[in-house]
Amino acid sequence: SRSFTRPLNDLANQFNTLLSAIAGAERVFEILDEEDEFLHETDLRELDDVRGEVEFQDVTFSYEEENQTVKNINLHVSPGETAAFVGPTGAGKTTMINLLSRFYEVDSGCILIDGQDISDIRRESLRQHMGFVLQDSFLFQGTVIENIRYGRLSATEEEVITAAKLANAHSFIMKLPHHYHTVLNQDGSGISQGQKQLLSIARAFLANPTILILDEATSSIDTVTELKIQAALKELMKGRTSFVIAHRLNTVQNADRIFVLDNGRIIEEGTHDFLLMQEGVYYQLHSKAVALTNG
Ligand code: ADP
Repeated sequence: SRSFTRPLNDLANQFNTLLSAIAGAERVFEILDEEDEFLHETDLRELDDVRGEVEFQDVTFSYEEENQTVKNINLHVSPGETAAFVGPTGAGKTTMINLLSRFYEVDSGCILIDGQDISDIRRESLRQHMGFVLQDSFLFQGTVIENIRYGRLSATEEEVITAAKLANAHSFIMKLPHHYHTVLNQDGSGISQGQKQLLSIARAFLANPTILILDEATSSIDTVTELKIQAALKELMKGRTSFVIAHRLNTVQNADRIFVLDNGRIIEEGTHDFLLMQEGVYYQLHSKAVALTNG
């Protein structure tokens, strides 16, 4: 079923647009900086020492004037917790992430990280505390090591390798013709979709963010790689506040807080067990997903 799914289009596209236009990762940060200056963000604050508490207070937002995309969103996620967004396509899951990362600005209400309104914080600083593992992992023309180092440009080769090991990416990398110095194309031809994901997980380990944004892959990935991805993500999420656009039953079940979205509103919220007991929308989505999984 596609009912839980939809790629993080905006986010992925923005990264891809930036990356496809340019060769080196450092240029990306320059462009983001220029963009920030254009918006006079130099006046804004830096975000330091983040614990990872995230709060949405009465957030409303629309892409277009006429219809509100998300309405009166209130949510609270404590440091280190995993929040899963579920709901049908078009429900607003991606939009929530777009707002949290300030790819778009809220129309009213506010989003707080550790009690600080993110609209008072420079976007570059905000995103230094955020790691993204998206369905379409973005690669640029460059070596494996350069692609992973994009997570933290100052990282040494040793640190890159440590991150790759944590991400369960090391073994496949060592099978590439020139190991960490194998040149990857922008479209990642030569490595699988799942291996691309492992690279983006390695990148996230290297970045060591307090807040993680995950958009689970929906395309089929071979079982062995899938297990590697699952194990690596579990490790990556430890101690970080994670927001997951969840497509896998397992991920949803293990989340500390599940937010069921429909038509831009949170219609149900709670743990898996709690929501099953409610026998509401989540219960129905879950039953369908279980039925599909069981063939
Ligand atoms: P989900 O991630 O749950 O599938 P989205 O947050 O992507 O939902 O979309 C919520 C609503 O906003 C949908 O009706 C979608 O068509 C609309 N939408 C998403 N992105 C844009 C955009 N860039 N411009 C206008 N409308 C958009």
